Amino acid sequence: MELAIGSFQNYVGGKWCTSETGEWMEQINPATGEIVSRVQKSSPKDATEAAQIAAKAFLKQDWAFNPRKRSAALFKWAAKMRENREELAKMLTLETGKPIREARGELLGAIGYMEYYASAARTLYGTTNAVDQNTLSILSREPVGVVAVIVPWNYPVTLLMRDLAPALAAGNATVIKPARQTSGVTMACISLMTDIEEFPPGIVNIITGSGSTTGMQLTREKTVDMVQFTGSSDTGKVIMAEAAKTMKKLSLELGGKSASIIFEDADLNKAIPFAITSIFTNAGQLCTSASRLLVQESVAEQVFKELKERAESLKVGNGLDESNDMGAITIESQMNSILDYIEIGKRDGKILTGGKRLTEGELAKGFFVAPTIITDIPCESPVVQEEIFGPVLTVQTFKEEDEAVEMANGTSFGLASGVWSQDIDRAMRVARKMRAGTAWVNTYNRLLNECETGGYKESGIGRSGGTEGLLKFTEVKHICIDFSPKA
Ligand code: NAP
Ligand code: MG
Repeated sequence: MELAIGSFQNYVGGKWCTSETGEWMEQINPATGEIVSRVQKSSPKDATEAAQIAAKAFLKQDWAFNPRKRSAALFKWAAKMRENREELAKMLTLETGKPIREARGELLGAIGYMEYYASAARTLYGTTNAVDQNTLSILSREPVGVVAVIVPWNYPVTLLMRDLAPALAAGNATVIKPARQTSGVTMACISLMTDIEEFPPGIVNIITGSGSTTGMQLTREKTVDMVQFTGSSDTGKVIMAEAAKTMKKLSLELGGKSASIIFEDADLNKAIPFAITSIFTNAGQLCTSASRLLVQESVAEQVFKELKERAESLKVGNGLDESNDMGAITIESQMNSILDYIEIGKRDGKILTGGKRLTEGELAKGFFVAPTIITDIPCESPVVQEEIFGPVLTVQTFKEEDEAVEMANGTSFGLASGVWSQDIDRAMRVARKMRAGTAWVNTYNRLLNECETGGYKESGIGRSGGTEGLLKFTEVKHICIDFSPKA
């Protein structure tokens, strides 16, 4: 059977190879239910083998000490991604359901990380300390070793490259575990690096399979030195507990429940359209989505009215249709979970718009949920406290600045935040008080290759992007030289 994305084996030790199970798993297009790709259903043994091959390559190859080669390898891969961008964007839409415009943007984000870290590979230097007259200490940056890169399905290409590119730039060997749902498009990206001669065999390895088996095994392997995980906070906690047994270095990019605050002195002509895109981009399946909107009471009526109009004007449908604004939910179980939260929203608050699955005509074949806005909802409701990861916005009102800050900080997450005000003093004051890794002022979701993102509280540990996103993939080696004269 000819599949729109294709059939892929694992890629380990510089070769395509089948899993020891001999089993396949199929991915579907969430807009139509059609099968679009097929990949290996790997076992824990496959994960062990891949980790061992990576560890051997790390020690035997010159990769760890050859930054120019690493830079050239990443630049060549980035160029191939650029050449194939339209085709990859289409695959991304087929597997995730996201609008094709957003898929093209995601690829640009991924290529941006590859190019940024391809350059940065050649800037990784350490420091020296002339400790005393006869002692010189060199503090050099070395790769950590073998890094397992575990990726979620919502931005499978950008989130892969955001951490794979710096892990490679820093000189590590890697084993990737993509999310099951988006394994096809991930493999299509990998197939573009296999004939780049600067990549030694065994430095980039990828195995597909379920997280609880293959992913878990990677976090257990003694030969894996670091786990880079992007996904939910619940899985992050499981990984942290498991990784403790072998004392692995960890970087965890987890969930969010971010608030954006609109003050009465905000430019509403900018703030309201942003409030819409900040939640309905990728149908709300974005870790930094502003899923909670806090609006000052004096402007609430106007904001509610415009939010409703704008949400109702969004065109929902197949992501391949250029005219659609919002696509399908990527996974059926995720859609069902969103619909369950909407029911809780009906119980605890009021539905301003949406509030249901969409099943008219062609939509019946896919997993579509109407853009939903919930008002009159108390802070304690699970709809306000828990990550829904779907097109559901809660809108709450406040009277005073302090109250808004307390509400914004009032969940166990701390990934991102937004402040809308034309009073610079207020904007700065509030941005500084946000207990979150990012505070956007008069903008939202400006995710930049050269700037760090990451979580406070249960949204994670560590940062991705920017300089910190590279340095986390290194160890500091102290080389100490004693040149005191012979006694
Ligand atoms: P998830 O269920 O935690 O899965 C993420 C990845 O981990 C997948 O590849 C999954 O494999 C794998 N996995 C699952 N259980 C595992 C285990 N026990 N050991 C090792 N690996 C395991 O998250 P998701 O549902 O894919 O993604 C949505 C979540 O990611 C949301 O919470 C979102 O906020 C978060 N996210 C955070 C960021 C950030 O930068 N902070 C960015 C994007 C998304 P399978 O899926 O194949 O089973
Ligand atoms: Mg999951």
